[in-house]
Amino acid sequence: MRFKREVVTPAQSPEARASADAAVTATPTDGEPPPRTSPLAAAAPKLATRDAAAGAAAGATGPAAAAADRPFPTPERRPRSKLPKKKPSRPRSAFATFRDAKRQEKKEVAASTDDAVDALAAAFEKTVSLSVASPPAGSTRRASASAARAPRSMRDENVGVVGLSFSDVMELHEGPPAHFERPARHAAVVAKFFKEGLEGRCERVPARLATDDELLLCHSQSHLDAVESTFDASKDEAVQGEGDIYWTTHTARCARTAAGSAAAVAAAVAAGSIHRGFAVVRPPGHHAECARAMGFCFYNNAAIAARVALRQPGVERVLVLDWDVHHGNGIQDVLYDDPKVMYASLHRHGNGFYPGTGDIDECGIREGVGYNVNIPWAEKGLGDADYLAAFDLVIDPIARAFNPDVVVVAAGFDAAEGDPLGGMKVSDQGYALMTERLLAHAKGRCVCALEGGYGLRRVLCHTDPHTTPSAR
Ligand SMILES: [Zn+2]
Repeated sequence: MRFKREVVTPAQSPEARASADAAVTATPTDGEPPPRTSPLAAAAPKLATRDAAAGAAAGATGPAAAAADRPFPTPERRPRSKLPKKKPSRPRSAFATFRDAKRQEKKEVAASTDDAVDALAAAFEKTVSLSVASPPAGSTRRASASAARAPRSMRDENVGVVGLSFSDVMELHEGPPAHFERPARHAAVVAKFFKEGLEGRCERVPARLATDDELLLCHSQSHLDAVESTFDASKDEAVQGEGDIYWTTHTARCARTAAGSAAAVAAAVAAGSIHRGFAVVRPPGHHAECARAMGFCFYNNAAIAARVALRQPGVERVLVLDWDVHHGNGIQDVLYDDPKVMYASLHRHGNGFYPGTGDIDECGIREGVGYNVNIPWAEKGLGDADYLAAFDLVIDPIARAFNPDVVVVAAGFDAAEGDPLGGMKVSDQGYALMTERLLAHAKGRCVCALEGGYGLRRVLCHTDPHTTPSAR
């Protein structure tokens, strides 16, 4: 049922108008469309005429009657201003400027992917999905919990628990613009893990600061003091130092977090609470020597992870495999006389390639002789076949002979094709295959700590900041 308004025109008699007034109230009609005139416009002429009629009926004269004779003015609707409401302008705060800069940086990071990140994700995917014959004792309940979180299509009851550690604390150490070792490296890797759904399939190992006790497993007390005190807060420069090492007010904390996170994953793997794990850490570590920071590195994350794993009962031997394109002079320096840790490195060597160490005859000292294995590449441009040949001919045989209880990977991805520093051509699949080879040892108990890998271009194609959940 619809209602129709009856409009009374000025030509009607007072009686007719009076009766019409009563009828102004709606009368029901069926099936008729409502009038197009707006209710306000329709009522206006009727009201004007009614007022004039009332004045005449009362016999009024003078201004009142004259006023009564004037038509009632039709209310005019004011056009809405189309101009946007102007907010009072305020000066931008320093915080707002900082926040916008960080947002812009995160956009750029999320909009950038690279060979190294793709390779890392591919290798990690392999780490997560490879089946193992028997997960270590104590991991069954956690494995079930982890599997419950994973999408149904991704569940594999035979896979042990894979740990993952990261923290944006490690993005606070930020050097000069365009420096290769930059916070975006950590952010891009973490964003990639979220985008690919790998984070949800892993058990989070909380990032933490390394203790002095853990750092002293590989470094001197004087080195710890130097890392803590080198940045001079009394100077104006926010970034101090030059060349391959820079220092900020956050450097000591970030370096300690990187070492602590690698140690946490190693301790969890050695204890059997997780089967294997990846520590997404920066600054990297494998150039840091016992008493010297160098090559972007402050604390030797992989060496510390190996020594922490050795503290666990039942862990007698650890294999450290370093596939970063640079020689891990720091790992070699720390572990050179240690027969409990076999260090094997694949790296470019010669023609001035950094750091210049890692020749084939550097094979250990004292009890450590024979436990330091360098595979130096004399040329650039090598790829999967070369690396896998090295596994076939050297790494797999010595790993079988050494029979490690845990494998630690100094997981640099600067040998990936497209890296701006490495000059090598290892593909995603190449890293995945090398990972598979390593998981054949130590019953698959493996700790990976991120080292190098500096190109972020190809991440551009894959990571959308608006669809990547917060990684914090
Ligand atoms: Zn490197």
